[in-house]
Amino acid sequence: MYNHKPKNYTCPFCELAKGRETPQNKREDIVYQDSETMVFLAPTWWENNSSHIIVVPKEHGENIYDISETLLCSVYGVVKRVAKATRAIATGQGTSVYQHNEPAGGQDVWHFHVNLFSEYTSDSLKKDKRTYVQQVKENLSKE
Ligand SMILES: [Zn+2]
Repeated sequence: MYNHKPKNYTCPFCELAKGRETPQNKREDIVYQDSETMVFLAPTWWENNSSHIIVVPKEHGENIYDISETLLCSVYGVVKRVAKATRAIATGQGTSVYQHNEPAGGQDVWHFHVNLFSEYTSDSLKKDKRTYVQQVKENLSKE
């Protein structure tokens, strides 16, 4: 419903969920995954902000109109866990969550995804992506 993906589109998020690296993401960018969801760092779309994390359902659905309510709840349950894990890191001061649908809504990858940004008073952590990923993984494992 209300789909905009071009013909022959290779979905980068489905590729990553299948364990294949993409020009945008390496396997080491994956912070967390379970049977329904995957969480990974978005290193190229917002190049200078390592706190940009993406949460996706592993099952392909282009946007909020396509995804089931059950899966939507699972994705947002993980979004909450990641928000808590990132908020617990040193200088975290808050979290912003964005979810875009269709071109007019700002969507540019045709797989439902939630963008999560940690807001910091200091930019020091944003300069070391691997340290940030490791801290998020550690905090997620404590729950
Ligand atoms: Zn996909």
